[in-house]
Amino acid sequence: MHYTKSKGILSAKNGMNLYRGCTHGCIYCDSRSICYQMIHDFEDIEVKENAIELLENTLRRKRKKSMIGTGSMTDPYIPLELKMENVRKSLSLIYEYGFGFTVITKSNRILRDLDLLKKINEKTKCVVQMTLTTYDEGLCKKLEPNVSSTKERFEVLKKMRDAGIPTVVWLCPILPFINDTEDNISGILDYCIEAQVYGVICFGMGLTLRDGNREYFYQNLDNLFPGMKEKYVKTYGNQYMLSSPNNKSLMKLFNEKCTQHGIVHDNKQIFEYLYTFNEKKFEEQLSLFD
Ligand code: SF4
Repeated sequence: MHYTKSKGILSAKNGMNLYRGCTHGCIYCDSRSICYQMIHDFEDIEVKENAIELLENTLRRKRKKSMIGTGSMTDPYIPLELKMENVRKSLSLIYEYGFGFTVITKSNRILRDLDLLKKINEKTKCVVQMTLTTYDEGLCKKLEPNVSSTKERFEVLKKMRDAGIPTVVWLCPILPFINDTEDNISGILDYCIEAQVYGVICFGMGLTLRDGNREYFYQNLDNLFPGMKEKYVKTYGNQYMLSSPNNKSLMKLFNEKCTQHGIVHDNKQIFEYLYTFNEKKFEEQLSLFD
Protein backbone atom coordinates (compact mmCIF):
# COMPACT_ATOMS: atom_id res chain seq x y z
CA MET A 1 0.00 0.00 0.00
CA HIS A 2 1.01 3.59 -0.40
CA TYR A 3 -0.33 6.92 0.80
CA THR A 4 -1.57 9.89 -1.14
CA LYS A 5 -2.88 13.25 -0.02
CA SER A 6 -6.19 14.31 -1.47
CA LYS A 7 -7.93 17.66 -1.89
CA GLY A 8 -11.50 16.39 -1.74
CA ILE A 9 -13.32 13.32 -0.55
CA LEU A 10 -16.88 13.35 -1.91
CA SER A 11 -17.84 13.23 -5.57
CA ALA A 12 -20.70 15.34 -6.98
CA LYS A 13 -23.03 12.46 -6.14
CA ASN A 14 -21.67 12.09 -2.61
CA GLY A 15 -19.63 8.97 -3.33
CA MET A 16 -16.21 8.42 -1.79
CA ASN A 17 -13.25 6.17 -2.50
CA LEU A 18 -11.28 5.61 0.67
CA TYR A 19 -9.00 3.22 -1.18
CA ARG A 20 -7.99 2.91 -4.82
CA GLY A 21 -7.07 -0.61 -5.86
CA CYS A 22 -8.27 -3.96 -4.56
CA THR A 23 -6.78 -7.32 -3.56
CA HIS A 24 -9.90 -9.43 -4.04
CA GLY A 25 -8.68 -10.66 -7.42
CA CYS A 26 -11.98 -10.99 -9.35
CA ILE A 27 -10.96 -12.08 -12.83
CA TYR A 28 -13.46 -9.77 -14.60
CA CYS A 29 -12.77 -6.61 -12.56
CA ASP A 30 -13.80 -3.53 -14.56
CA SER A 31 -11.88 -1.21 -12.22
CA ARG A 32 -8.65 -2.45 -13.78
CA SER A 33 -9.63 -0.69 -17.01
CA ILE A 34 -7.11 1.88 -18.19
CA CYS A 35 -9.80 4.59 -18.38
CA TYR A 36 -9.82 4.85 -14.55
CA GLN A 37 -6.18 5.87 -14.63
CA MET A 38 -4.93 3.86 -11.69
CA ILE A 39 -1.33 4.28 -12.59
CA HIS A 40 -0.11 2.22 -9.63
CA ASP A 41 -0.23 -1.56 -9.41
CA PHE A 42 -3.89 -2.52 -8.84
CA GLU A 43 -3.01 -4.59 -5.73
CA ASP A 44 -0.82 -1.81 -4.34
CA ILE A 45 -3.67 -0.03 -2.57
CA GLU A 46 -3.66 3.74 -2.56
CA VAL A 47 -4.82 5.13 0.78
CA LYS A 48 -5.93 8.72 1.18
CA GLU A 49 -4.05 9.63 4.32
CA ASN A 50 -6.23 12.67 5.05
CA ALA A 51 -9.55 10.98 4.12
CA ILE A 52 -11.08 11.05 7.58
CA GLU A 53 -10.11 14.64 8.23
CA LEU A 54 -11.52 15.66 4.82
CA LEU A 55 -14.72 13.74 5.44
CA GLU A 56 -15.30 15.35 8.81
CA ASN A 57 -14.76 18.85 7.38
CA THR A 58 -17.07 18.12 4.47
CA LEU A 59 -19.87 16.64 6.56
CA ARG A 60 -19.66 19.45 9.08
CA ARG A 61 -20.06 22.08 6.36
CA LYS A 62 -22.66 20.37 4.21
CA ARG A 63 -26.01 22.15 4.44
CA LYS A 64 -28.13 19.36 3.06
CA LYS A 65 -27.94 15.85 4.48
CA SER A 66 -27.78 13.03 1.95
CA MET A 67 -26.77 9.44 1.43
CA ILE A 68 -23.00 8.92 1.39
CA GLY A 69 -21.92 6.02 -0.81
CA THR A 70 -18.78 3.98 -1.13
CA GLY A 71 -17.63 0.89 -3.00
CA SER A 72 -18.68 1.73 -6.54
CA MET A 73 -15.09 1.84 -7.79
CA THR A 74 -13.26 -0.68 -5.59
CA ASP A 75 -14.35 -2.77 -2.62
CA PRO A 76 -13.72 -0.88 0.63
CA TYR A 77 -13.77 -4.02 2.80
CA ILE A 78 -10.36 -5.26 1.66
CA PRO A 79 -8.09 -6.96 4.25
CA LEU A 80 -6.22 -3.66 4.67
CA GLU A 81 -9.38 -2.08 6.11
CA LEU A 82 -9.08 -4.28 9.19
CA LYS A 83 -5.84 -2.47 9.97
CA MET A 84 -6.68 1.04 8.69
CA GLU A 85 -10.32 1.19 9.83
CA ASN A 86 -11.06 4.06 7.46
CA VAL A 87 -14.51 2.71 6.64
CA ARG A 88 -15.29 2.31 10.32
CA LYS A 89 -14.08 5.82 11.13
CA SER A 90 -16.19 7.16 8.23
CA LEU A 91 -19.24 5.34 9.54
CA SER A 92 -18.79 6.95 12.95
CA LEU A 93 -18.70 10.39 11.32
CA ILE A 94 -21.67 9.65 9.08
CA TYR A 95 -23.62 8.60 12.16
CA GLU A 96 -22.52 11.57 14.20
CA TYR A 97 -23.42 14.12 11.52
CA GLY A 98 -26.76 12.50 10.67
CA PHE A 99 -26.12 11.37 7.10
CA GLY A 100 -27.27 8.15 5.44
CA PHE A 101 -24.93 5.45 4.15
CA THR A 102 -24.76 2.88 1.40
CA VAL A 103 -21.91 0.55 0.44
CA ILE A 104 -21.21 -2.03 -2.26
CA THR A 105 -19.08 -4.97 -1.16
CA LYS A 106 -18.44 -8.66 -1.65
CA SER A 107 -16.85 -9.15 1.75
CA ASN A 108 -18.22 -10.42 5.03
CA ARG A 109 -15.72 -8.12 6.78
CA ILE A 110 -18.64 -5.71 6.72
CA LEU A 111 -20.03 -7.63 9.70
CA ARG A 112 -17.38 -6.03 11.89
CA ASP A 113 -19.33 -2.77 11.44
CA LEU A 114 -22.82 -4.14 11.97
CA ASP A 115 -23.20 -2.11 15.17
CA LEU A 116 -22.60 1.18 13.35
CA LEU A 117 -24.65 0.22 10.30
CA LYS A 118 -27.56 -0.52 12.64
CA LYS A 119 -27.15 2.77 14.44
CA ILE A 120 -27.10 4.71 11.15
CA ASN A 121 -30.16 2.85 9.93
CA GLU A 122 -32.04 3.62 13.12
CA LYS A 123 -31.10 7.29 12.99
CA THR A 124 -31.37 7.93 9.24
CA LYS A 125 -30.95 5.30 6.51
CA CYS A 126 -28.50 2.56 5.62
CA VAL A 127 -28.59 0.19 2.64
CA VAL A 128 -26.04 -2.59 2.14
CA GLN A 129 -25.37 -3.65 -1.45
CA MET A 130 -23.71 -6.97 -2.24
CA THR A 131 -22.61 -8.38 -5.55
CA LEU A 132 -23.52 -12.00 -6.29
CA THR A 133 -22.43 -13.58 -9.53
CA THR A 134 -21.97 -17.30 -9.01
CA TYR A 135 -24.09 -19.75 -7.04
CA ASP A 136 -21.59 -22.61 -7.45
CA GLU A 137 -19.07 -22.23 -4.62
CA GLY A 138 -16.21 -23.92 -6.52
CA LEU A 139 -16.70 -21.72 -9.55
CA CYS A 140 -17.05 -18.65 -7.33
CA LYS A 141 -13.61 -19.34 -5.81
CA LYS A 142 -12.15 -19.38 -9.32
CA LEU A 143 -13.82 -16.17 -10.46
CA GLU A 144 -13.55 -14.20 -7.20
CA PRO A 145 -10.64 -15.92 -5.42
CA ASN A 146 -9.81 -13.68 -2.46
CA VAL A 147 -13.18 -12.58 -1.22
CA SER A 148 -16.10 -14.13 0.68
CA SER A 149 -17.81 -16.95 -1.17
CA THR A 150 -21.38 -16.51 -2.38
CA LYS A 151 -22.64 -18.54 0.57
CA GLU A 152 -20.78 -16.29 3.01
CA ARG A 153 -22.27 -13.23 1.30
CA PHE A 154 -25.69 -14.84 1.60
CA GLU A 155 -25.05 -15.17 5.35
CA VAL A 156 -24.26 -11.43 5.44
CA LEU A 157 -27.51 -10.63 3.64
CA LYS A 158 -29.45 -12.65 6.20
CA LYS A 159 -27.69 -10.93 9.09
CA MET A 160 -28.63 -7.57 7.57
CA ARG A 161 -32.23 -8.76 7.20
CA ASP A 162 -32.28 -9.78 10.86
CA ALA A 163 -30.84 -6.42 11.83
CA GLY A 164 -33.53 -4.59 9.84
CA ILE A 165 -31.01 -3.17 7.36
CA PRO A 166 -32.30 -3.21 3.78
CA THR A 167 -30.16 -4.83 1.09
CA VAL A 168 -29.73 -4.63 -2.66
CA VAL A 169 -27.96 -7.27 -4.76
CA TRP A 170 -25.97 -6.59 -7.94
CA LEU A 171 -26.37 -9.58 -10.24
CA CYS A 172 -23.38 -8.91 -12.47
CA PRO A 173 -21.34 -9.72 -14.34
CA ILE A 174 -22.65 -12.97 -15.82
CA LEU A 175 -19.88 -14.51 -17.90
CA PRO A 176 -20.91 -16.06 -21.23
CA PHE A 177 -20.26 -19.83 -21.40
CA ILE A 178 -19.23 -19.86 -17.72
CA ASN A 179 -21.99 -18.89 -15.29
CA ASP A 180 -24.81 -17.93 -17.71
CA THR A 181 -27.02 -20.85 -16.75
CA GLU A 182 -30.54 -21.18 -15.37
CA ASP A 183 -29.22 -23.03 -12.32
CA ASN A 184 -26.89 -20.16 -11.52
CA ILE A 185 -29.46 -17.37 -11.86
CA SER A 186 -32.11 -19.38 -10.06
CA GLY A 187 -29.77 -20.30 -7.20
CA ILE A 188 -28.73 -16.69 -6.64
CA LEU A 189 -32.33 -15.49 -6.76
CA ASP A 190 -33.32 -18.14 -4.22
CA TYR A 191 -30.73 -16.64 -1.88
CA CYS A 192 -32.15 -13.18 -2.54
CA ILE A 193 -35.68 -14.37 -1.81
CA GLU A 194 -34.67 -16.01 1.46
CA ALA A 195 -32.65 -12.97 2.53
CA GLN A 196 -35.62 -10.72 1.65
CA VAL A 197 -33.51 -8.28 -0.35
CA TYR A 198 -35.21 -5.07 -1.42
CA GLY A 199 -34.06 -5.24 -5.02
CA VAL A 200 -31.74 -6.86 -7.55
CA ILE A 201 -29.83 -4.73 -10.04
CA CYS A 202 -29.20 -6.42 -13.38
CA PHE A 203 -28.19 -4.78 -16.65
CA GLY A 204 -28.67 -7.92 -18.72
CA MET A 205 -26.79 -11.21 -18.68
CA GLY A 206 -23.27 -10.49 -19.82
CA LEU A 207 -20.12 -8.56 -19.02
CA THR A 208 -18.16 -5.60 -20.28
CA LEU A 209 -14.51 -5.64 -21.28
CA ARG A 210 -12.29 -2.65 -21.87
CA ASP A 211 -8.59 -2.10 -22.34
CA GLY A 212 -6.88 -3.10 -19.13
CA ASN A 213 -9.51 -5.46 -17.75
CA ARG A 214 -9.72 -7.44 -21.02
CA GLU A 215 -6.05 -8.45 -20.83
CA TYR A 216 -6.35 -9.48 -17.18
CA PHE A 217 -9.55 -11.42 -17.84
CA TYR A 218 -8.13 -13.30 -20.84
CA GLN A 219 -4.96 -14.15 -18.94
CA ASN A 220 -7.13 -15.71 -16.21
CA LEU A 221 -9.30 -17.53 -18.74
CA ASP A 222 -6.15 -19.12 -20.15
CA ASN A 223 -5.16 -20.32 -16.67
CA LEU A 224 -8.56 -21.42 -15.44
CA PHE A 225 -10.56 -22.38 -18.54
CA PRO A 226 -8.18 -23.45 -21.34
CA GLY A 227 -9.64 -22.73 -24.78
CA MET A 228 -12.25 -20.26 -23.45
CA LYS A 229 -10.37 -17.14 -24.51
CA GLU A 230 -10.39 -18.34 -28.12
CA LYS A 231 -14.14 -18.87 -27.88
CA TYR A 232 -14.62 -15.34 -26.55
CA VAL A 233 -12.43 -13.80 -29.24
CA LYS A 234 -14.25 -15.73 -31.95
CA THR A 235 -17.71 -14.79 -30.62
CA TYR A 236 -17.18 -11.20 -29.53
CA GLY A 237 -14.00 -9.88 -31.15
CA ASN A 238 -13.11 -6.63 -29.41
CA GLN A 239 -16.63 -5.72 -28.30
CA TYR A 240 -17.27 -3.73 -25.14
CA MET A 241 -20.58 -5.45 -24.32
CA LEU A 242 -20.45 -9.24 -24.28
CA SER A 243 -24.01 -10.41 -24.01
CA SER A 244 -24.67 -14.05 -23.15
CA PRO A 245 -26.29 -16.13 -25.90
CA ASN A 246 -28.74 -17.10 -23.13
CA ASN A 247 -29.59 -13.49 -22.28
CA LYS A 248 -33.20 -13.67 -23.41
CA SER A 249 -34.19 -16.80 -21.52
CA LEU A 250 -32.21 -15.84 -18.42
CA MET A 251 -33.75 -12.36 -18.33
CA LYS A 252 -37.18 -13.95 -18.62
CA LEU A 253 -36.39 -16.17 -15.66
CA PHE A 254 -34.97 -13.20 -13.75
CA ASN A 255 -37.97 -10.93 -14.38
CA GLU A 256 -40.53 -13.62 -13.61
CA LYS A 257 -38.88 -14.78 -10.41
CA CYS A 258 -38.38 -11.24 -9.08
CA THR A 259 -41.98 -10.29 -9.90
CA GLN A 260 -43.32 -13.43 -8.29
CA HIS A 261 -41.46 -12.74 -5.04
CA GLY A 262 -41.92 -8.97 -4.86
CA ILE A 263 -38.24 -8.15 -5.44
CA VAL A 264 -37.79 -4.76 -7.11
CA HIS A 265 -35.89 -5.27 -10.38
CA ASP A 266 -36.36 -1.96 -12.14
CA ASN A 267 -32.85 -0.46 -12.01
CA LYS A 268 -34.15 3.13 -12.08
CA GLN A 269 -36.42 2.49 -9.13
CA ILE A 270 -33.60 0.86 -7.17
CA PHE A 271 -31.18 3.73 -7.80
CA GLU A 272 -33.83 6.24 -6.75
CA TYR A 273 -34.37 4.23 -3.60
CA LEU A 274 -30.64 4.09 -2.88
CA TYR A 275 -30.08 7.80 -3.19
CA THR A 276 -33.27 9.18 -1.69
CA PHE A 277 -32.58 10.65 1.70
CA ASN A 278 -35.42 11.66 3.92
CA GLU A 279 -34.24 14.35 6.29
CA LYS A 280 -37.49 14.07 8.17
CA LYS A 281 -36.47 10.91 9.99
CA PHE A 282 -33.36 12.65 11.27
CA GLU A 283 -35.32 15.74 12.30
CA GLU A 284 -37.86 13.59 14.12
CA GLN A 285 -35.01 11.96 16.00
CA LEU A 286 -33.63 15.36 16.95
CA SER A 287 -37.03 16.61 18.10
CA LEU A 288 -37.08 13.81 20.66
CA PHE A 289 -34.31 15.68 22.41
CA ASP A 290 -35.93 19.16 22.25
S1 SF4 B 1 -14.11 -6.79 -5.39
FE1 SF4 B 1 -14.62 -5.34 -7.00
S2 SF4 B 1 -12.87 -3.98 -7.12
FE2 SF4 B 1 -12.20 -5.79 -6.00
S3 SF4 B 1 -11.30 -7.11 -7.58
FE3 SF4 B 1 -13.46 -7.70 -7.31
S4 SF4 B 1 -14.56 -6.52 -8.89
FE4 SF4 B 1 -12.54 -5.58 -8.64
